[in-house]
Amino acid sequence: MLSRLKDYRNSYREWKQHPVNYKYPGEKHRCDCCGEEHEGNFCPLCGQKATHGPVTWESVWAGWLEIWGMHSRSLPYTAWQLLTRPGYLMHDYITGKRQVSFPPVKMLVILGFIVFLLGHWVNPQKYTHEITTIASGDSLYYIKYAFAWLKTHEEWFTLFTFSFLILPTWIVFRHAPRLLRHTLPQGFFIQTFIAIQVMILSLILILLELNPTTKSIASSINICLILIYLLIDYKQLFGYSWWGTIWRGISMLFMIIFAIFIIGGTISAFTIKQVKALETFGVIQATLSAAWILYLLIYIVNVINTRAWRTKSKWAIFRDPIIALAIVIAISALGFIILS
Ligand SMILES: [Zn+2]
Repeated sequence: MLSRLKDYRNSYREWKQHPVNYKYPGEKHRCDCCGEEHEGNFCPLCGQKATHGPVTWESVWAGWLEIWGMHSRSLPYTAWQLLTRPGYLMHDYITGKRQVSFPPVKMLVILGFIVFLLGHWVNPQKYTHEITTIASGDSLYYIKYAFAWLKTHEEWFTLFTFSFLILPTWIVFRHAPRLLRHTLPQGFFIQTFIAIQVMILSLILILLELNPTTKSIASSINICLILIYLLIDYKQLFGYSWWGTIWRGISMLFMIIFAIFIIGGTISAFTIKQVKALETFGVIQATLSAAWILYLLIYIVNVINTRAWRTKSKWAIFRDPIIALAIVIAISALGFIILS
């Protein structure tokens, strides 16, 4: 019994890292479309799949599913992978193994629609696609309109929210052991997958809302699940330990808070005249300094982890934090000259 469990656990581990084992079909096949005799899964002349035969009832079913891009059944399988090996799936996709996943942006839109349909059926007030009317004379008309639209399209709102993680992730996880120097486009797809995951968890939320006993705790369970999955995603994707992932996640959170302070402070210091500009600027400056210290801490950990002194010159090791400090000092000096 115990050894069986162990076998099961080992095969699950193996599957998590290598889910697909591609094999070349050896036998020859005559193409149903152009008649070319060939080996392999696709005809080299016309491109038709070797498994396509004459039209059957199964083709009718497949033809309808094709509207949703579900004919190859990879959407449910991708959803399953996002619940059981999420970080590995993201790693596979962004490093070039695209066949293992359903196209992510398309999947987000399809899931958004499914969540809307199911949610509207269970909880019509919450999942509505009606856009509230906004007066067109308003100076912030387009911004307000965009937010009203986003509010009614949960899938885009989720992606919009998580896209704020692209830059902090890029800064904090650049030297990750499993994904060295990832790019911003890769960062975009990471967050798209996370948004898809949130949509899948929304389906669970809807199911919990169906039951009156779990209705009240449904959204807290949902938030907990999202946070736990974020941690699993980042651990499997970047390959740090649990603690390494947790403290880096927390420092990302601080980066976002600092960014809100700096951007919000700058806007209020320069646009709203009632605010005492110099005092506001003091807050910005303090935040900038705190951000630099955080950046320095992460930088030092990365230098130690990657043993940078073995490959880099002294100047190359100290360059980035010195440039960052110079920028902080320059902004502070400029601000005081303008405001005082
Ligand atoms: Zn052919």
